[in-house]
Amino acid sequence: MSATAIIRGRAGGEAETGFDAQSIRADFPILLSEVHGKSLVYLDNAATTQKPRQVIDAISGYYLQTNANIHRGVHLLSERATQAYEQARVKVQRLLHAADAREIVFVRGATEGLNLVASAYGRKVLREGDEVLVTAMEHHSNIVPWQLLCEEKGAKLRVIPMSDGGELDLQAYERLLGPRTRIVSFVHVSNALGTVNPARRLVELAHQAGAIAVVDGAQSAPHLTVDVQALDADFFVFSGHKLYGPTGIGVLWGKRALLEAMPPYQGGGDMIRSVTWEKTLFNELPYKFEAGTPDIAGAVGLGAAIDYLDRVGLERAARWESELLGYATLRLREIEGLKVVGTAREKAGVLSFVLEGIHPHDIGTVLDQEGVAIRTGHHCAQPALERLGLVATARASFAFYNTREDVDRLAAGLARVKEVFA
Ligand code: PLP
Repeated sequence: MSATAIIRGRAGGEAETGFDAQSIRADFPILLSEVHGKSLVYLDNAATTQKPRQVIDAISGYYLQTNANIHRGVHLLSERATQAYEQARVKVQRLLHAADAREIVFVRGATEGLNLVASAYGRKVLREGDEVLVTAMEHHSNIVPWQLLCEEKGAKLRVIPMSDGGELDLQAYERLLGPRTRIVSFVHVSNALGTVNPARRLVELAHQAGAIAVVDGAQSAPHLTVDVQALDADFFVFSGHKLYGPTGIGVLWGKRALLEAMPPYQGGGDMIRSVTWEKTLFNELPYKFEAGTPDIAGAVGLGAAIDYLDRVGLERAARWESELLGYATLRLREIEGLKVVGTAREKAGVLSFVLEGIHPHDIGTVLDQEGVAIRTGHHCAQPALERLGLVATARASFAFYNTREDVDRLAAGLARVKEVFA
């Protein structure tokens, strides 16, 4: 079968997507730059995506025309800033298909969102002997907060195993669920392997066991359509900077009843209704969880990124990324001694690999000289790599502005790596 036929197969038997990545690239000024005298090929999108001019302009426009502190001011700029911040919240609500904008809490990123859930919800419900389940392919930010919590509470962190290809063992998951399971927290799309986990099923099984389900959407929100109501998860987190928005802003979505019942995560301004020496009354949702001056410009930038993604079309973008992943997988498999790490049937945007006899850091260093930016190392998922008998991989990760030429440059760069280390 020809490469194109296989790629068409992956794209669901349709003709190729016809996605115009080339003209989209014009919106991303950094993609026109050179590194080491070569035009940049940016394939480190799982770490952070590049930002379109529309996002950069929204942030500078905010500082040029609107900047003021929010919620407390009676002057015009403060009202405008408040409006811009709250409009961004509504954009996130629409992105996630959430029922209510009050369920959207702005945080610094996925990491802070998970820590918030572990601290505020976890501390409240977990008792000695209870269990928290995570998967074998978690990012450290969905391991360490639960480890800290379990240590504090005398609870147990248990791990849903995965196959050598990076697919969860659902039967083992069902066996692990039990009357002591309080929380199941899992990654929607693995940043190390690219696996798309069967989120709806994982949530359903957690609920049947009486546990709540937390979804780490850091790698899914930018690449898949997320509908938190259809998913029926209890909490969902993602980071703005992986979704073409700025760093420093992210989102925790939670079911309203759960958020209402949770104590605050941090204390300070804006999260209170009234403070006396005797007693503090907390503000309503979502402000109860947004102590202090938030990243207003960050929220505005994230809102602009969501608008941008809407214009591109998330589903069209996802089909293109899937086509690219298929093409890249074929091209890389042609390279002798290269092994793809993570071969799940459902994958999104991530191609991890190792090259026989060559350390991933050496691969990354030579590719950098060729103008190709990838990530090498453990991808903050050390237990996942350890499970596969590895300490590091090289990882190319895609966004909708990547092209087949980018993949060809990666393949050519890898040929150069082999020459250097022959
Ligand atoms: N979860 C996953 C799957 C990730 O890939 C990442 C970042 O790489 C995170 C969580 C943490 O995101 P952040 O560092 O933006 O909080």
